[in-house]
Amino acid sequence: MSADCLFCKIVAGTVPAKRLYEDELCLCFADIHPQAPTHVLLIPKEHIPSQAHSEEEHAPLLGHLLAKAAEVARGAGLDRGYRVVINTGPDGGQTVDHLHLHLLGGRAMSWPPG
Ligand code: AMP
Ligand code: ZN
Repeated sequence: MSADCLFCKIVAGTVPAKRLYEDELCLCFADIHPQAPTHVLLIPKEHIPSQAHSEEEHAPLLGHLLAKAAEVARGAGLDRGYRVVINTGPDGGQTVDHLHLHLLGGRAMSWPPG
């Protein structure tokens, strides 16, 4: 846990969130500013600052996050598809420095992203 990290505080329960799924490795909760009808975040409980900090040792955890994203998407009825996004660093538009997957669905997405 990183003491000044917003998402670590959500994991710890000291900052409230609409928790949708949780296990020993990860937490899924609703994004506070949804950009699509379904917009949830999946985060590792372990504090990893960003995708750029991923190492081989994180591979099982990262795979788990992707598998859970698919499970949450199925549960949300996103049968037509969805988008999983990992904003990384300043140019990637990352605003919270705790690795997170955005799961966005419920509308058609455009490409390329802004
Ligand atoms: P990013 O810009 O990729 O770092 O994404 C950070 C996301 O966290 C944004 O979509 C925010 O809307 C979301 N967010 C920020 N604070 C909270 C919060 N307290 N609870 C839920 N989502 C949040
Ligand atoms: Zn953190």
